[in-house]
Amino acid sequence: MRFCFIVDRSLGTLAKWLRILGYDTIYEPEVSAGEFYDRSEDPRILITRSKEIQKAWGSHDHVFISSNPLVEQLQQVVAQIGITREDIRPFSRCIHCNLAIDRINKNEVYGLVPDYIWETHDAFNRCNQCKRIYWSGSHAERSMDMIKLIFDVK
Ligand SMILES: [Zn+2]
Repeated sequence: MRFCFIVDRSLGTLAKWLRILGYDTIYEPEVSAGEFYDRSEDPRILITRSKEIQKAWGSHDHVFISSNPLVEQLQQVVAQIGITREDIRPFSRCIHCNLAIDRINKNEVYGLVPDYIWETHDAFNRCNQCKRIYWSGSHAERSMDMIKLIFDVK
């Protein structure tokens, strides 16, 4: 099952990680707590650690974050929403733009990534909005360790 999230301004790293896992995640640090009231009809799941925002959101779906370490925050989201390892689509979304990234022909990225990366990788993806190029080693290895940690708890 696919979920979409909206994350409050105090949880920027968590928001980035939800995008790494492949989730459509709104993170707009300039949005004030009061504005969450107007957005509470969105079919998104709110993730917050603000009592004020939680109140503005009312009874709609949300996760109230109580931990500080990132791994515990992610574990809390995964446990409360019921996300499994099979549900996630890691590295399928631009972590800056929140858009799905597309596979791009290797020849098109020549000169756009370091030469040694081009020579040692075959699969590249690009964000159509910001034009950032992603490849399997760009953040994948450290991230895979984190993903293991997140789903290891059960
Ligand atoms: Zn982008």
